[in-house]
Amino acid sequence: MGSLNKFRFLHQARKNQWLKPSELKELQNKKLRAIVKHAYYNTEFYNRKFKDAGIRPEDIRTIDDMKKIPFTTKQEVREHSLGTILAKNVDLNKCKIIPTSGSTGKPLKAVYDIAADDFSKAINLRSMMENGLKVRDKWVNIGDARTSNNPSWFQKLGVFNLQTLSIFDTIEDQVNTLIKIDPATIVGYPSQLKLISLYIENNSLKQINPKNIFTTAEMLDSNTRELINSSFDVELVDLFGCIEVNRTGWECSEHCGYHLDVDSVITEFVQDGENISAGDSGNIVYTCLYNYAMPLIRYEVGDVGIPTEEMCSCGRSLPLMKSLEGRCDDFIILPSGKLISPRVLSLLIKQTEEILEYQIVQEKPDEMSINIVVSQNLTSDKLEQIKLEAQKYLKNEVLVKVKLTDRIKRGSTGKLRSIISNISSEND
Ligand SMILES: [Zn+2]
Repeated sequence: MGSLNKFRFLHQARKNQWLKPSELKELQNKKLRAIVKHAYYNTEFYNRKFKDAGIRPEDIRTIDDMKKIPFTTKQEVREHSLGTILAKNVDLNKCKIIPTSGSTGKPLKAVYDIAADDFSKAINLRSMMENGLKVRDKWVNIGDARTSNNPSWFQKLGVFNLQTLSIFDTIEDQVNTLIKIDPATIVGYPSQLKLISLYIENNSLKQINPKNIFTTAEMLDSNTRELINSSFDVELVDLFGCIEVNRTGWECSEHCGYHLDVDSVITEFVQDGENISAGDSGNIVYTCLYNYAMPLIRYEVGDVGIPTEEMCSCGRSLPLMKSLEGRCDDFIILPSGKLISPRVLSLLIKQTEEILEYQIVQEKPDEMSINIVVSQNLTSDKLEQIKLEAQKYLKNEVLVKVKLTDRIKRGSTGKLRSIISNISSEND
């Protein structure tokens, strides 16, 4: 059912990455004009948005015209009924509907029609196949097994034979299952693969020897990358994206940033409403070029990244994002209004070797808890030191409490969020 299309899309996508920059731009412009026209004539949401802004589909000819289109926020998509966001005549029974993992507020749903779902899967497969995934690999995804699909006919034949291992099982069970399956390819969240790596190292296990490891969905720091690489003896590849538009970027074997999948999703970097220049950090804004069921144009996803004009030495024409900085709604806001990057605070905590996992929760503007799981007892001196250093970093505007805990609670999909702000407007 639609599955053969996926292979056709995949073949095309693998060719697209080697197009000349001018050809790639032409392809984007053509797809952009089509989705803009479709969204204007077929969704209430964009029809109104375009009219309010005084623009018509004909005004958007190329990517350079995109700045005329107002942004779409998560909040807006959440507040409007699905009926106004979706294209008319979409048959939800024939769509894939994915709820996002919102912890508060109205959950947001991503809806893909069959063609869009096939296309998004092809783009995801491209990022993995370009990094060594083979059609007949045994492939394990460590994630939410409750929502994994039944195997399709080609998976039963051993093609892209993906098995999902539940992140909610104990680490020991997960490791034992990995030993039993002996997968060639493993996909998982950095936080989970870190725990598995530690278990492997502590028990000197040598039976799990994947060729490829892909991390996804959480911020990956360099310590975690090194740990996973050394315990599995691989060079992991980090992928990123979001539920609403799926895969949008990936590392190649050069590891010099993330190739952006601009033939399927246009990625812009924006600060104060303007596109920023290379090297600065900006809010990531996506325009999905292929999902006709739920068009998203200039959609502010809530992530922050730094674009670059440098081309990758691998020769692919897909442009690069230098680094992913974090999610906007995870930034810490000081009582004085100053935004604090979560990265430095994380680094500060990670200096302490005994800390296995942590979660920073900003409960009130001037109050914060750092929940930590430790491998061995920490002296009270050391706990006090972490607290004081964190407070100093937060300009002494915030009272910090460090709490020892046995386990950090995961979100509904099993994803670990290292920073949670209960005072920002959005929280998922
Ligand atoms: Zn590259």
